[in-house]
Amino acid sequence: MTEVLFCNACGSRVEHRMPEGDHLPRHLCPSCGHIQYFNPRVIVGCIPEWEDGRVLMCKRNIEPRFGLWTFPAGFMELGETTAQGAARETHEESGADVEVGQMLAVINVPHVSQVYIVHRGRMRSPHHGPTPESSQTRLMTEAEIPWDQISFPTVHHSLRFYFADRARGRFEVHTLDLTRQLRQPSNREVGTGDPPPRQPAE
Ligand SMILES: [Zn+2]
Repeated sequence: MTEVLFCNACGSRVEHRMPEGDHLPRHLCPSCGHIQYFNPRVIVGCIPEWEDGRVLMCKRNIEPRFGLWTFPAGFMELGETTAQGAARETHEESGADVEVGQMLAVINVPHVSQVYIVHRGRMRSPHHGPTPESSQTRLMTEAEIPWDQISFPTVHHSLRFYFADRARGRFEVHTLDLTRQLRQPSNREVGTGDPPPRQPAE
């Protein structure tokens, strides 16, 4: 539970209790009646592909998972679509200009209250390079992906989905519940009828 002491409407000390008619305890202000709700966060990203089939990977220059590799992804901002967010994050993390395409994966990570939404992306130009968020950016073939140095299981699974779909010539929207209990040794993929993805090497 997020620890909140003061009302963000009037600054009074809040109480943590169940409002009448609700089903969960909330942060409730006894002075002005304001209720502060906390909801899951959405992380948007894309797997940017250059015209030779290589994909753009970024080496994280920030915590958490400093020094590990990811495709561009980050917290969705208010007022944007998932595709707009993925394009923005791609530019912020790699300087690349992408046309964001079809959704590839929706991954629930309930123990950290996050939902990952990953799109495919097409790079409009070969330009990319380091940024404050990425110490290196590199176009990689599937064989060059550093599977043992991937930042998060969500990134790992999304890349597996991407390369598996590409190999068979048909892309789908994959859904995965990455629950703590299911992270090892097997993850349950829902809805596509595919075999479970291979294990993350972390
Ligand atoms: Zn208040």
